[in-house]
Amino acid sequence: MIPKVDELLDNELVKEMDTQIPRKIIVDSIRQKTEEVRGAIKNGESIDYIKDMIERLPNDIESYAKQKNSYKLRPVVNATGVVIHTNLGRSPINPEILDHLKDVAKGYSNLEYDLDKGSRGSRYSHLEEVVAEITGAESAMVVNNNAAAVLLVLSTIAKGKEVIVSRGELIEIGGAFRVPDVMEQSGATLVEVGTTNKTHKRDYESAITENTGAIMKVHTSNYRIMGFTSAVEASELKEISEGHGIPLIEDLGSGVLIDLSKYGITYEPTVRDSLDSGVDVVTFSGDKLLGGPQAGVIVGKKEYIDQMKKNPLTRAFRVDKFTISALEATFRYYLDEDMVVSRIPTLRMLTYPMEVLRNKADKLLKMMEQEDFHKMVNLSIQDDYSEVGGGSLPMEKLPTKCVVVDLGEKSTAKFEKLLRTNTIPVIARIYKDKIYFDLRTIEDSEMDIITKAVISAMDGLEECD
Ligand SMILES: *Cc1c(COP(=O)(O)O)cnc(C)c1O
Repeated sequence: MIPKVDELLDNELVKEMDTQIPRKIIVDSIRQKTEEVRGAIKNGESIDYIKDMIERLPNDIESYAKQKNSYKLRPVVNATGVVIHTNLGRSPINPEILDHLKDVAKGYSNLEYDLDKGSRGSRYSHLEEVVAEITGAESAMVVNNNAAAVLLVLSTIAKGKEVIVSRGELIEIGGAFRVPDVMEQSGATLVEVGTTNKTHKRDYESAITENTGAIMKVHTSNYRIMGFTSAVEASELKEISEGHGIPLIEDLGSGVLIDLSKYGITYEPTVRDSLDSGVDVVTFSGDKLLGGPQAGVIVGKKEYIDQMKKNPLTRAFRVDKFTISALEATFRYYLDEDMVVSRIPTLRMLTYPMEVLRNKADKLLKMMEQEDFHKMVNLSIQDDYSEVGGGSLPMEKLPTKCVVVDLGEKSTAKFEKLLRTNTIPVIARIYKDKIYFDLRTIEDSEMDIITKAVISAMDGLEECD
């Protein structure tokens, strides 16, 4: 009674998939599902059970094939309130930027072609003008991420030489980026000065030898040292480095380009601050507080950047047209400081007024209250705090509003898993055995997805019971 593969391929439902799903996946799905029927026969299942399985074959094949054919990397709803969530892809990109990216990527572009001269150009040239405008930098280039940027800078400027770093700044960023290890990889020798909590100008001065290649400052983006502390400002380090004719470099981490304190967020040193105080080369991430694509931006003195462009590592760390195009578009927003905050999703989410968060929470709560399940759980709006994330501004607590689902006796952990494994996964926060949906990272267009995911998770819980 089990239909042949050819017969199943001729089935209307299966045929319909033919234009969207590769033939191989369809055939594999047919084999898989018919094999399951044979398995059931071997197991001695009843004839009615087997007949039923055969009847359902086209449907089962369809859902199995669709499942097999679905993307592994796909959108999720971030309801955690962690704005720059490294596990969830860091900064979302504005759709206008994606439109431009599509224009550039779907055909040919002048990526490395100088249209005025009609000859080979540089892929970094597209960024230089806009970066100079925003940060005041003489020159700029970009590599795959900030880790690569730091490695390239050290390898170019200080290979075989000593680099002086304060013991208070020997950071580790998630994912095995450690300043001492990067230093070793680059071929530079780390010279630690000062102590964990205090480093003075004289510590740097007395560490200088004829083999010093650079003085390096590292922004302690993901932790703070508090209490009895002191660090040396870049402007003071500049006095030392200039006196000895050695470059001063800084790993700024997040790459803030505007003063965020206007929006109630702690002041973070901007890229311009760093350059203004005399740092020769500054590196920062493209997808942290900058709010763009993954990238490592290097800005500063032309003489050093030109040397870096010639380093073979540059070829290995090279970014493609996607990154350059999205980064150029992101930088362009910064030309208008009043608009940038509303145009870059990361900045918009970080600076939502409480009013907006409250309205969003009301809206999501109302949507949930219209559904049947709401009588089975306790729904409420609660005050809470969101995080910046991405190893940026670790002490910042951003007051927010959450819609909270209290499941009472039902399993919060199972519910959270059902949300997470939903067709469009919803990643929420569990706190004190309740589910929190933080409105800061939830777009209005995602509220419907969340509500449907909650309904289907409630159904899933019932089935478990
Ligand atoms: C995040 C960070 C890095 C690593 O940047 P990626 O773009 O993630 O490679 C390096 N240094 C500092 C100080 C950082 O904050």
